[in-house]
Amino acid sequence: MDNEKETSKTAQLKEKLFVRNVKGLQSVSSDDIAQADEFAKGYMTFLNHAKIEREAVATSVQIARENGFTEYDSTKNYQAGDRVYVVNRKKNIMLVVFGRQPLDKGVRFAIAHIDSPRLDLKPNPLYETNELAMFKTHYYGGIKKYQWTTIPLALHGTVAFKDGSTVNVTVGEEDNDPCFCVTDLLPHLSREQATQPLSKAIAGENLNVLIGSRPFDDSKEAELVKLNILNILFEKYGITEEDFLSAELTLVPAFKARDIGFDRSMIGAYGHDDKVCAYPALMSAVNTYNPEYTAITILVDKEEIGSDGNTGMQSAFMEHFINEIAEKNGLKGYKVLDNSKCLSADVNAGFDPTYSSAFEQNNSSYINRGVVITKYTGSGGKYDTSDASAEYMAEIRNLLDKENIQWQSGELGKVDGGGGGTIAKYVANLNVDVVDLGVPVLSMHAPLEVISKTDLYMAYRAFKAFFQ
Ligand code: MN
Ligand code: MN
Repeated sequence: MDNEKETSKTAQLKEKLFVRNVKGLQSVSSDDIAQADEFAKGYMTFLNHAKIEREAVATSVQIARENGFTEYDSTKNYQAGDRVYVVNRKKNIMLVVFGRQPLDKGVRFAIAHIDSPRLDLKPNPLYETNELAMFKTHYYGGIKKYQWTTIPLALHGTVAFKDGSTVNVTVGEEDNDPCFCVTDLLPHLSREQATQPLSKAIAGENLNVLIGSRPFDDSKEAELVKLNILNILFEKYGITEEDFLSAELTLVPAFKARDIGFDRSMIGAYGHDDKVCAYPALMSAVNTYNPEYTAITILVDKEEIGSDGNTGMQSAFMEHFINEIAEKNGLKGYKVLDNSKCLSADVNAGFDPTYSSAFEQNNSSYINRGVVITKYTGSGGKYDTSDASAEYMAEIRNLLDKENIQWQSGELGKVDGGGGGTIAKYVANLNVDVVDLGVPVLSMHAPLEVISKTDLYMAYRAFKAFFQ
């Protein structure tokens, strides 16, 4: 046997036995890249209109209605092909496309979250100090606090009044809107601050937001700058200071989603975690017609703070709905769940070459290598996670290969490096097969996170294939 033949035999055996060599964009067709660029435009518009969960729900309802979904009516019986949506407390939405199979054959869930880390106002937020008006905040979710100083912030949310009415507030998104910011100490005087570890250099109680500096008038009264702000808020929204108690107001980065890179291959934005999965999950429901199994996309709130509360994944919201549609068909809800399958649509940490030591390279996800399957998350020895079964992992990788969807597998960083969680375990606790599948993100939880356009598109194709 000559040497050349020997090499090709070796190469063939490697091809057969080695883990398939995950390739980057060289393995993605130019057609897929063009489709990805087009899909990204809709995503960026969604991001700019859905910075907080209430806005994400309202925007999703609009998209659903434009695509033939109607609001679920519990007095009606639905047939295969019917398309409905259910909103829970304005912060949580389910889109349902009824399938041809009976419900006790199981349903297909794609579940993503629509809350992102940010600075929430405290219940009594407004104060004046040294002729400056400020808001006290309590940060929401895992943030590196220093990243939230000296960037433009916009105020989003809702104020509820005692008479039951509400007013929505959005300030800082239009070019001519004012915006807000958290100040930081100048480097010249930061000798002491600079000696502190990152976690201590900016204290949570120092994330105070600058919102005004002019007094109401030249009277001798105290707190005139605060009074001026309250007067502006009262004239515009009818808000008095006590109304902050019954409000959900939050500060988010004021900038819009932007292309990143000379080649425009990536998107930089606030809130990729987890709208980069929520949007493709939403669009895959929208573009699913007459599926075999009932397809349900759920967009949940509160994931970033543990999925607690009645709009988080630990709420009985989804279970109650499944029970209701099962009972209408003379079935038990638990039978539906027992046979159901779920893609927990959440992001993973994309490998960052600048911080390579935080990652184990054989088990990291990389941007531009496609949608990432995460068998388990958790921390400190697989604590607090659902570890997907071997059988379900096999089923999902078979589906992705069959559909020629670019995919990779990833863990969340090094074993003892830290960790995190997703909604997967709460779904698994209902006896549903579940695995995490989503998009790798650079600078996760930062005000400006980065993702790849083709990874976003592969996530869409994966959810769509799963539903079909
Ligand atoms: Mn997430
Ligand atoms: Mn997160």
